[in-house]
Amino acid sequence: MKFADLHLHTFFSDGTFTPEELVERASKLGLAAIALTDHDTVEGCARAAAACAAANMEFISGTELTAEHEDTEVHILAYFVDTQNQALLTRIAGFQSVRQNRIREMVAALNKLGIPLKAEAVFALANCKSPGRPHVARALVKEKLIGNLDEAFERYLKKGRPAWVPKTKMSALEAVELIHQAGGLAVMAHPGLNRTDEIIPDLVDAGLDGIECFHTKHSTTMAGRYLEIADKFHLLVTGGSDCHGFSKNRPIIGTVKLPYEHVEKLYAAKKSADEKRRTPAAK
Ligand code: AMP
Ligand code: ZN
Ligand code: FE
Ligand code: FE
Repeated sequence: MKFADLHLHTFFSDGTFTPEELVERASKLGLAAIALTDHDTVEGCARAAAACAAANMEFISGTELTAEHEDTEVHILAYFVDTQNQALLTRIAGFQSVRQNRIREMVAALNKLGIPLKAEAVFALANCKSPGRPHVARALVKEKLIGNLDEAFERYLKKGRPAWVPKTKMSALEAVELIHQAGGLAVMAHPGLNRTDEIIPDLVDAGLDGIECFHTKHSTTMAGRYLEIADKFHLLVTGGSDCHGFSKNRPIIGTVKLPYEHVEKLYAAKKSADEKRRTPAAK
């Protein structure tokens, strides 16, 4: 049996692995294909693609966009996007500045609470264009301002906690459109995580291509429910570990194994979308 992991992060966003380290782990696990889905960036894709080629593993370029629909946060995974697509690069660069400004706001909120963390310490640790809350948590631990990462989220960074800062997001409908114009397929990430079932029909109407049925935080029952939903709305099925390296816990790459038949269906959908773009239906 061949398997894939289509949800992975590197140090180009809030993971800790380099693309090469990630590929080496995937290769040792015997995975047939992986996709890189760093938050709001495609920067790691070229290095991951090269490492995959050397390891004789299939690679799908991707990203994970933080979006919202009717006040519900939803993460949209992009697969097969052209990593040079100008509209995509411009739009995600905007969200990278949103992320950087938000780090400053979170640090200012921590300072107000008497915690002497410096934004520069977070940026130095993150060392990437797409920093997030895990970097703030890691900086707090590194500077010995808190015991561990979980505590940092529980006390300060979780939604509703004193250093939580909301993030400006793109609309989910725009995310789907942005991914399509960059030649990609749009997939709803981990729907079981924030119970976003009610928005699925709207996203399907907007052209959503697939849904992540298999995810580390989905129970078997949940995966079953999303497989039924995928079937009902004729959506592609994806899955991945959402491994962040050592950022949150032990590396979890390999804990979710997507049967390769689903990857084949993704390739077929990409091919057919490309053909449709080349020969638009006559009106
Ligand atoms: P951000 O994009 O900056 O809002 O950060 C989101 C990242 O933080 C995601 O990778 C989440 O998995 C991680 N995260 C969110 N909540 C928690 C939590 N309670 N504990 C640890 N990590 C979390
Ligand atoms: Zn993340
Ligand atoms: Fe996510
Ligand atoms: Fe993720």
